Amino acid sequence: MPIPEHVVICGGGVIGATIAYELAKRGVAATIIEADGVASGASGAAAGIVTPPLPWATDDPLYSLRRLGFDMHAELAQALPAEAGVDYGYETSPRVLLADSADEERDGRAVADRLAAAGVDGRWLDAAGVLAASGWIDRATRGGVVVDSPAQLDPYRYTLALVTAAERRGAVVRSGKVSGVVRDGDRVVGVRVGERVIEGDAVVIAMGPWSAEAAAWIGVPVPVEPLKGQIVRVRPSRPLRPFSFGHGGDYVVTKPDGLVFLGTTEEHAGFDREPTAAARDQIVAFARRFTSAFDDAELVAQTACLRPLSADGLPFIGAVPDFAGCYVATGHGRQGILMAPPTGRALVELMLDGASTCLDLVPFDPARVLRAS
Ligand SMILES: Cc1cc2nc3c(=O)[nH]c(=O)nc-3n(C[C@H](O)[C@H](O)[C@H](O)COP(=O)(O)OP(=O)(O)OC[C@H]3O[C@@H](n4cnc5c(N)ncnc54)[C@H](O)[C@@H]3O)c2cc1C
Repeated sequence: MPIPEHVVICGGGVIGATIAYELAKRGVAATIIEADGVASGASGAAAGIVTPPLPWATDDPLYSLRRLGFDMHAELAQALPAEAGVDYGYETSPRVLLADSADEERDGRAVADRLAAAGVDGRWLDAAGVLAASGWIDRATRGGVVVDSPAQLDPYRYTLALVTAAERRGAVVRSGKVSGVVRDGDRVVGVRVGERVIEGDAVVIAMGPWSAEAAAWIGVPVPVEPLKGQIVRVRPSRPLRPFSFGHGGDYVVTKPDGLVFLGTTEEHAGFDREPTAAARDQIVAFARRFTSAFDDAELVAQTACLRPLSADGLPFIGAVPDFAGCYVATGHGRQGILMAPPTGRALVELMLDGASTCLDLVPFDPARVLRAS
């Protein structure tokens, strides 16, 4: 198959941005078409947590994507901010996964023992130890597993950095809502935006939870649905030592600017993106269960946005069958920021080299939905 000379990327979220960046680094022209604004969806309002997978979870098909994501973020943070002229606040700080019952404490202690045995970062601290280490998590009852290496970043500025760096190497961002893919026989030749056709010899569908719409354009289902998530941003009355905690799927993350992100929810609410009072109260109550630091905090903002959740929990990264030059990259659910760098690298290797060497893309093949039906 010929190597593409101009790739049209539908969607300017973190996934579209990382693909544009990787293409630009390889000297291939890329045009992002974004219906709203760059990072206007989940990519701009995520918590920005970047954590490595547990080292023994290697049977999980997402293991490599997560591991590579964590490592590539550390590497990118050395170069991308300067390259783009955009500081996105990448930093590592400790994080504790709290236990809140006898069963959770038993499981947490077992995880800490396994981490220690594997010689990797992670240890058990009781409640007093968690308070001593954090300085502010003062209502934990049982302690938790503390890991020192997790990273976090500002997801909006990270996406902006990718786009800016890509633009500096020649990529282009255009406003518009893609309404179809244009084909010549079994080859893609561009996309439709209003009355216009934007030509390209390759097209990537990276429209987050809106990617399901593309099924009608490409002839293959893209089973992703929106999973709404809300975050409450607060400013505590005193600065907090950088330290994050999680329990179940909820979390509290300190940010370098003094704000703290409290989250989150998982709501099947269609494409509704309105923050709700009920979610705010639930999220704040969660955080205050483990610390008094937010008893008198100022509520600065509340965000709600939509994760692209795939039907089988795995992203789609790869070629559309029987449609030369057409690709899909979506469905990263709750960890699209973490998994963005290897997604972009692997898809661009597939497009330009015929196969990815950095990542086995077989589990993420968009054609799996056809095999399953
Ligand atoms: C509350 C919350 C917290 C999160 N926290 C984390 C975290 O801590 N760590 C982590 O790794 N991940 C996190 N995530 C997940 C992460 O945000 C997503 O997986 C990721 O942002 C998805 O990126 P995307 O580019 O696929 O989609 P999006 O960000 O949704 O981008 C898709 C873009 O496509 C555009 N678009 C849609 N239709 C069209 C069209 N027809 N034409 C042109 N453009 C179109 C949209 O406007 C949008 O900008 C979180 C998500 C939420 C909701």
